[in-house]
Amino acid sequence: MDLDVRAHTLDRSDPLAGVRSRFLIEDDLTYLDGNSLGRPTKASVDAVRALAEKAWPQSLVMGWDNWIDSGQQAGETLAPLIGAQSHEVSLSDQTSINLYKLASAAMASGDRSAIVTDAGNFPSDLYILEGVAAAHGGEIRVAPEDATPDELDSRMDGSVALVALTHVAYRSGAMHDGAAMTAVAQKHGARMLWDLAHSAGAVPVALGEWGADLAVGCTYKYLNGGPGSPGFVFVREDLQPILEQPIAGWFGHRDQFGFNQEFDPDPTIRRFLTGTPSILASASALAGIELAAEVGITAIHAKAISLTSLFIDAIDAVGAGTHDVITPRDPDRRGSHVTVRHIEAERISIALRDRGVIVDHRAPDLVRFGFAPSYNTHHQAVHAAEAFHEVVISKDYERFGAGSRRVT
Ligand SMILES: *Cc1c(COP(=O)(O)O)cnc(C)c1O
Repeated sequence: MDLDVRAHTLDRSDPLAGVRSRFLIEDDLTYLDGNSLGRPTKASVDAVRALAEKAWPQSLVMGWDNWIDSGQQAGETLAPLIGAQSHEVSLSDQTSINLYKLASAAMASGDRSAIVTDAGNFPSDLYILEGVAAAHGGEIRVAPEDATPDELDSRMDGSVALVALTHVAYRSGAMHDGAAMTAVAQKHGARMLWDLAHSAGAVPVALGEWGADLAVGCTYKYLNGGPGSPGFVFVREDLQPILEQPIAGWFGHRDQFGFNQEFDPDPTIRRFLTGTPSILASASALAGIELAAEVGITAIHAKAISLTSLFIDAIDAVGAGTHDVITPRDPDRRGSHVTVRHIEAERISIALRDRGVIVDHRAPDLVRFGFAPSYNTHHQAVHAAEAFHEVVISKDYERFGAGSRRVT
């Protein structure tokens, strides 16, 4: 079938078609960077406005009665999206900081000192894991990019305290087998920590079913919480009272307002909090999480597969030979972005943005097309593939210089 006809048919029967109107969209961009920063929901904008115009000026410090537990309340709404129980999740700090806290907590509880990860992990994660391992007298072992369970298994032994992986890889879009990787880590007596930055709000995650120990993630990508909105932590119920996180602050104290001189860690998920959260950012994040929870992760994932499959077919159809799709073609093995390799990735990404197709590139040769199931359309998937093809064939990217942008 003709790609445009197929896109039209899919858009007409899309059960999520109405969800796009819940976003504040004031442009006609083909926005395919929601895996980096999601679009704002109208509810987030309303929540921030209500705080700024009403709750903050009117409630003043008394507002904290309502705000103090907002991280855990948002965690309850987020929990079903990642297969966790409601008391196992809280908003907190940022993903990088949460990774530091939870990785350190996993190390502190034994005499093992190595951390295993893979080369497809996010560089910030690698830096943090390396620092945590070094602080415990160990080192990180890096399995190949998008490692298989067997490749992970061959790096494991009795000195490994922790396996830390990003569930959907930021470069390739490949998705790990959560159950299989968790089982490998735990078979060797290590804890398993998942980074869900590219998973939460895009693909189903079953932390409980997998038996995962720990997880972190962010709310500003597929959960549309806003630039710099808070990260989240997951700590399995039985570990909450026994793990010790390294930044003991008053938000983790059993009696926060007792103002005791000694730290007495709370036995619940609160133990993994540290200091005062941004209530403006949390309110925005909650609205994004609520919309994703309302739509449901099963429906979101079905649309993600539909969009990415159509895009891969369209890329194959328009441009055989000049570039490869490096994202797995098996929809069960990928997240919600598709990565195309081309030697001119950076200038192609700039040229596409110039045409209103907002993508990004990852050095040296990858262009990422991120599909946000709640607001992207099948028509946009085909349009992006066609625009990519035109830019490549016409060499239109030659009009642009590389290396000009601070943020790629
Ligand atoms: C986006 C992303 C982060 C971001 O961490 P911040 O602390 O929010 O800057 C971390 N890990 C992964 C895998 C990411 O994709």
